[in-house]
Amino acid sequence: MIQVSGSAEDICDFFLILFLYFQKRGSLITMLKSNLSNLIMSNVNIEKVQNILGNTPVLRIFFKLGSQALIDYRYPTHIFIETTRACNLKCTFCSRNVEHSESGHMDFDLFKSIVDEATSFGRKNFGLHLLGEPLLYPRIVEAIQYIKNANSNHAILLTTNGYLLDDFKAKKILENNVDKIVFSVFSLRSERTKTLTGSSNISKVIDNIKNMVALKKRMHSKTNIYMRFMICEENKDELQQVQSLTKDLGILLEARYTHNFSGVIEDNYISNKQTDKKRYPCYHPWFSPAITWDGKIVLCCNDWNYAETLGDMRETTLASVWGGERLKQLRRYHLAEEYNKIPLCAKCNVWSLHPDIFFGIQKKHKLK
Ligand code: SF4
Ligand code: SF4
Repeated sequence: MIQVSGSAEDICDFFLILFLYFQKRGSLITMLKSNLSNLIMSNVNIEKVQNILGNTPVLRIFFKLGSQALIDYRYPTHIFIETTRACNLKCTFCSRNVEHSESGHMDFDLFKSIVDEATSFGRKNFGLHLLGEPLLYPRIVEAIQYIKNANSNHAILLTTNGYLLDDFKAKKILENNVDKIVFSVFSLRSERTKTLTGSSNISKVIDNIKNMVALKKRMHSKTNIYMRFMICEENKDELQQVQSLTKDLGILLEARYTHNFSGVIEDNYISNKQTDKKRYPCYHPWFSPAITWDGKIVLCCNDWNYAETLGDMRETTLASVWGGERLKQLRRYHLAEEYNKIPLCAKCNVWSLHPDIFFGIQKKHKLK
């Protein structure tokens, strides 16, 4: 019996029980799923959201309830598909610096089979990148069209460094109402961009964004255009300038932090911030696995070296992996705070980029 008095955690537990009760009764919660999932994937400023949730217990309860409602144990809500592992940049904080795993483009039949399986589970979200630049995929336009033709309600997230966005691709992205295109930017200064990414031509990216904004207006496209500013110690002084620029351009801003790619990159920003933060389960094992360009199903978009390979799309289905024993075990490790039992997760700091989605009672009893 849960008592509705005492600590905020007790209150959270009480709401969880209520939630589970209504969920089993087939409540309206499922209707909120698709919109909430976009919200969760697109925190405008993660730190701000974390602070608001941290200081407002009631909001935290609703955030957790909403997050729980989004979890689909039959099939993931969001799938990262690595359309290509090729990239035109050389960012200092990318795991590509650590190891040169073989690069290649995804076979289009393999791509179609992933989308076909996902479509049989209803509306899903697709991110078309992992460790590469998706605009280098020769069939990126066909890939977008294939997803939207399969189900016009599928959501597509396209994250790009923006250098290769020509007029043709921009029009096709807008014409197909890709839900969200994110331009990842590391600095507005040429010299700094050169140091951080290997290319100094940031003005080319800004021009491409401007062109896309103008095309969007002309074409009445629904695509949301974002600039993602990747914050690290070297560029944190530019945040205000980036804010003004996005306002002037009429696009949305996502401020995110560079991270340590499961512990292989030394990042100087989050690590400094999270030293005394208590670790909580990462949302990835419940939301968003990734499929590499050569068909391997891996735990998350940070599994750059196939450390937690859960299956191969050429031999199995994502649904069977998602409901499989290994993933259940990995989720249990996270709930039990036994992160060291998963080498991939042991030193990763990505968990801290998203708010905790679990209630105390779930962690205590490994309730999912
Ligand atoms: S961070 Fe992205 S753009 Fe930079 S090198 Fe890595 S994959 Fe390429
Ligand atoms: S902790 Fe890191 S490696 Fe583990 S699932 Fe989360 S993002 Fe992936």
